[in-house]
Amino acid sequence: MAKVGFIGLGNMGSGMARNILKAGHDLKVFDLNEKVVKDICAEGATAAKSASDAASNVDAVITMLPAGQHVKSVYLGENGLIAVAKSGTIMMDCSTIDVESARAVVEAATKAGMKMVDAPVSGGVAAASAGSLTFMVGGTDDAFAYAKPYLDSMGANIVHAGKAGSGQAAKICNNMMLGIQMISVSEAFILAEKLGLAADKLFAISSKASGQCWSLTSYCPVPGPVPTSPANKDYKAGFAAAMMLKDLRLAQEAAKSVHAETPLGEMARVMYEEFSSKSDNDMDFSGIINMLREKS
Ligand code: NAD
Repeated sequence: MAKVGFIGLGNMGSGMARNILKAGHDLKVFDLNEKVVKDICAEGATAAKSASDAASNVDAVITMLPAGQHVKSVYLGENGLIAVAKSGTIMMDCSTIDVESARAVVEAATKAGMKMVDAPVSGGVAAASAGSLTFMVGGTDDAFAYAKPYLDSMGANIVHAGKAGSGQAAKICNNMMLGIQMISVSEAFILAEKLGLAADKLFAISSKASGQCWSLTSYCPVPGPVPTSPANKDYKAGFAAAMMLKDLRLAQEAAKSVHAETPLGEMARVMYEEFSSKSDNDMDFSGIINMLREKS
């Protein structure tokens, strides 16, 4: 079994790290929050003194951090992971970050003799704990082959999306579709209400017709038709509106950098800016239907 360093034991990282432990690896962990480190050490991991200590003398490094600036500050620089890890270490950044930062870090790692992939995930905290995440992976064939066994321990669906940065590109393109679709489904249910068409009837028709999409059939924003959707739990996340906003902002940054025309993606970003500023941190992104209803 391998020696693995894991940095970032938040909502997602703590479940993912536990699955690395369950797979039998020797796990060293670091997080700025001492409590989460203590919890996983009680289950068999070892506490590192710093992020670079977690990456020293290991075969693999996994990071699950909030955003691009955290990833760059941890990997790059004199005491960064790339400077201290042994040559040939496989590095996997699973955070959702901007494509440019992802490419810059992979390039620096490759120059220093490491193998590295960007490997953001789809699936929330429950999938992270269950080991059923989808990983979208960017990097060389060689780096992907080295990363795959570790990702298999944490996920059910591992897709090699292409060269470095392609994992992040896939993640933001997917979530831009998701954000736009959630707004479109919400608008349709509000219009139906106003036209006197019952929500369950619209669901029965559209879930089998050309309007169907995941936001309708798996995550319906009105209570009733999909019992597991957050609409039935007072719109408690689930997938927080703030997370959706983060991904829509990343999509727009990327679109501007390559001059891609994404007017609906930009409109979705503006609407989620407004919705997030008005809602609690644990508000699910499907709750945007209530903001639209209030305005109607
Ligand atoms: P989180 O805020 O719960 O966890 C981040 C962890 O990183 C925290 O424990 C924090 O203390 C730690 N951290 C920050 N800077 C650090 C540093 N310099 N050194 C060591 N530790 C540091 O976030 P999360 O919900 O676990 O999300 C992590 C990433 O996964 C984000 O990029 C997010 O967009 C992405 N993601 C989240 C979800 C979800 O449902 N939560 C789903 C898919 C993807």
